[in-house]
Amino acid sequence: MLNCGFGLYNEKSLENSFLPTDPVLVVHGGAWAIPDDMVEGHLHGVRNALAAGWGVLERGGAALDAIEEAVVIMEDDETFDAGRGSFLNRDGRVQMDALIMDGATLRAGGVGCVERLRNPVRAARKILSESPHVYFVAEGAESFAAEHGVELCKNEELVIEREVERLREYQREAAGRDFAKDGNELFAPTVSHDTVGAVALDRDGNIAAATSTGGTLNKAPGRLGDSSLIGCGCYADNLSAAVSTTGWGEPIMKLVLAKWTADRVAAGNLPEWAAQEAMNYLKQRLNGHGGIIVLNAKGQFGIAHNTPRMAWACKTIKKEEAGVERSAP
Ligand code: ASP
Repeated sequence: MLNCGFGLYNEKSLENSFLPTDPVLVVHGGAWAIPDDMVEGHLHGVRNALAAGWGVLERGGAALDAIEEAVVIMEDDETFDAGRGSFLNRDGRVQMDALIMDGATLRAGGVGCVERLRNPVRAARKILSESPHVYFVAEGAESFAAEHGVELCKNEELVIEREVERLREYQREAAGRDFAKDGNELFAPTVSHDTVGAVALDRDGNIAAATSTGGTLNKAPGRLGDSSLIGCGCYADNLSAAVSTTGWGEPIMKLVLAKWTADRVAAGNLPEWAAQEAMNYLKQRLNGHGGIIVLNAKGQFGIAHNTPRMAWACKTIKKEEAGVERSAP
């Protein structure tokens, strides 16, 4: 018998059977020009999320459970544009999207335009685990969640004063602006993009990804971003990579960016390279901006953004790091 550090294994069975994998967890909390006075709050948030997800992985839990717990922490943190404290749409309501995906089975659960869920990722997880469908929107998603034990809340409970003021200010400034002529600086990298996401590898060698968002400020009611769309804001396949993106959703959607990136990893490229390439592609092809985290089933990962900053944190059995900038490899 041999002690591998994970328990006792019979030497002979080791030859052909799988060896436990060292877990990895990477999270992000949005990519934009995070002002200096907001850096601490973002770092605190991503570190808390990392701790919650790592707790699951450390106990031998599934990557899927780890990312769900990590994302819940950031949805509950008003620093981020997810759950309570999300940006408000044009009508002053919180309207959220989320997706979770399992790289082992390709099962996925997504919710779009939900207004009465504190933790949209919990509803997404219920869809993944308990529904033959993949995607529910609006009231249908809320009904599904309620029927499966996820408590509903009032939309007003998700609205905070900071966001009421932010929307008011934006709408005041936007009044009279000619968007066709001046462009829409709502989509400039200086505008907050605080979507959250997580990717993880568990001891069984499975990867998973989740993304959750309140979308963009002053969005039209019913507008859906990239975050909850499979292959756009989130994707996971053990044979390629687990990916979560953030940033201006329309260009990310058009490029199906998460799947584009996972495909490059499947072709043999390192996640670090693929993440950086995805950001270059987003910028060059559609002048889009954002950030991305990418992890493969070997535990190799990449973190990249083409915005001035992105809140991120990562943990392996060897090290833990967090930051708001990540330089190109
Ligand atoms: N990608 C999100 C959306 O467009 C926003 C963000 O990442 O902050 O809905």
